[in-house]
Amino acid sequence: IVQLYVPLNWFGTYYRSIQKNFIDMENMFDLLKEDQDIIDAPGAGPLVVKKGAVEFNNVTFNYVPERLVLKNITFSVPPGKTVALVGPSGSGKSTIIRLLFRFYDIETGSIIIDGHNIKTVTQESLRRAVGVVPQDTVLFNNTIMYNIKYGRLTATDADAIDAAKGADIHDRILTFPNQYDTQVGERGLRLSGGEKQRVAIARTLLKAPAIILLDEATSALDTQTERNIQDSLNKMCANRTTIIVAHRLSTVIHVDEILVLKDGEIVERGKHENLIGQEGIYANMWKQQLDSKETSAENSLEHSTT
Ligand code: ATP
Repeated sequence: IVQLYVPLNWFGTYYRSIQKNFIDMENMFDLLKEDQDIIDAPGAGPLVVKKGAVEFNNVTFNYVPERLVLKNITFSVPPGKTVALVGPSGSGKSTIIRLLFRFYDIETGSIIIDGHNIKTVTQESLRRAVGVVPQDTVLFNNTIMYNIKYGRLTATDADAIDAAKGADIHDRILTFPNQYDTQVGERGLRLSGGEKQRVAIARTLLKAPAIILLDEATSALDTQTERNIQDSLNKMCANRTTIIVAHRLSTVIHVDEILVLKDGEIVERGKHENLIGQEGIYANMWKQQLDSKETSAENSLEHSTT
């Protein structure tokens, strides 16, 4: 019993920490197929996504009975549009994303994609329709080709190379010792944060989902890399329904709707200009980010002159 208990317990901890950080949900489902709280409804059919409309209706959710983590969340994302979730740490942004991937079932309310309640369709079809770009992409100890094809394992090499080009990582891969056959991951070539994000973008391009969930990386990349990544992300999200957990407000200026969350509730919503005009939480967050940017700009100026 002891022998069995230890690894299971370790596995549990690992599982929870991945879950909590929303590192790489798609990988995780494959790694942990046997750990299933969520089951398909009897007679569940496949989700057929034609347009990619997403709706949350009065969604209430708690991880533990004592505390509601989401309260009466209602919003909709029309096909091809982008909604950004912003708000303080712990306000429930990642939870919304996890629920849309049906990581957990909700208490009350409904989550609807193209008119289908996600509880009534097969999980396999749901997760095929929804692409996830996590904050931190897990690479397998395998070739870069395999790691890109992970987005759609039946893809041809030519498709994977096209995806790599779309994610702007193809030229970089050609400089690797064995190009697309180069081993990457813990035991191979280590990729930088920016390169790993590009692998995630390539995977998603290959998967070609109607709906994209994007957890913006908090880890700082240099400004030029960030701008290039932003270009690839914009291309990937164009004409796809997108929900972004945004950490940098500069990325949300142009989105169709911003939802400001606080303690599990939507406290402000609208476009950037409207929210700035309201002089509420969002306007404050915006001001703080501008201030901290000025401070860091001043710092780098000081460094360059000394
Ligand atoms: P951050 O910006 O820090 O990622 P967030 O807005 O994404 O935060 P969530 O991760 O959605 O916040 O967490 C919302 C609340 O739910 C927090 O209070 C958090 O502690 C709690 N929570 C998150 N995951 C779990 C879990 N697996 N079990 C129990 N509580 C959880």
